[in-house]
Amino acid sequence: MSHKAGFVSIIGKPNAGKSTLLNAFIGEKLSIMTPKAQTTRHRILGILNEEDHQIVFSDTPGIIKPQYGLQESMMSAVYGSLTDADLVVLVTDIHEKHDEEDVLKSIEHCLSPIIVVINKVDNAKQEDILEKINYWKTTLNPVAIFAASALHDFQVKEILSFIIQSLPEHPAYYPKDDTYTDRTERFMVSEMVREKILMFYQKEIPYSTEVIVTSFIEEENIVKIQAEIIVERESQKAIILGHRGESIKRTGTESRKSIEEFVGKKVYLELFVKVLSDWRNKKNYLKRFGYEQ
Ligand code: GDP
Ligand code: MG
Repeated sequence: MSHKAGFVSIIGKPNAGKSTLLNAFIGEKLSIMTPKAQTTRHRILGILNEEDHQIVFSDTPGIIKPQYGLQESMMSAVYGSLTDADLVVLVTDIHEKHDEEDVLKSIEHCLSPIIVVINKVDNAKQEDILEKINYWKTTLNPVAIFAASALHDFQVKEILSFIIQSLPEHPAYYPKDDTYTDRTERFMVSEMVREKILMFYQKEIPYSTEVIVTSFIEEENIVKIQAEIIVERESQKAIILGHRGESIKRTGTESRKSIEEFVGKKVYLELFVKVLSDWRNKKNYLKRFGYEQ
């Protein structure tokens, strides 16, 4: 029997629905979904295995203009994922106005075939959908255009079939045991804590914060985890802790619940808040946190 395998990059602006689409494909919660932009800062690979094919997805950070150190390395993750892709899936929000210039610019030099997914059509008018289809046909002329709803599972199967059909014949790139991501459990845990920080804190706090799991010890009935929440200033540390430590306590409790669901065991979670000034502009910090290879 012939076997297909390949790399598929999911790109698009923040909030277009890339993570939702990827999760609909994979059927597992791989990356954080939140209404706030720029959540997915890492290049996460999700791998879909079937007997006769393997799709390696990368969910890249949103396409944005670099403004400071962190965003530059995010952009290089976007470009990196375009050069090794067998197929690029460009996800766009139907409600996004016609200012897709930065998206188009970022794929200017892309040699891989591109499909366009016009997402969120669940709450769109038919005429708007037709207009968008026309827009993408004339500006990009991709190999396929889908009007879809990642959230409501509309056209998701069809997109996946198209992807599979487009992949080259190739043996599997990764072993086909039940690994569905090449990131470690530690990374998943840190993303879950980050998710709670995004939910519970305002304004710049979530974007000035990084989470590192410093200890992950799995025992028979419990997983003991220690994590550091890194902030840039003492004032941010005070906000993270909250009055009498109430905010950090809530973050810890909610994070623990999510992690317990993920690992399927009881979890003992300890959070520590640490100040590392200006970490976003320091290359060695970025490296340590996995933003650069
Ligand atoms: P990303 O930044 O591109 O990864 O976007 P997300 O997948 O995190 O989605 C951003 C927001 O759009 C979330 O609140 C999703 O629930 C929502 N969303 C994603 N797909 C759809 C869709 O098909 N329809 C609607 N109405 N909302 C969607
Ligand atoms: Mg995302």
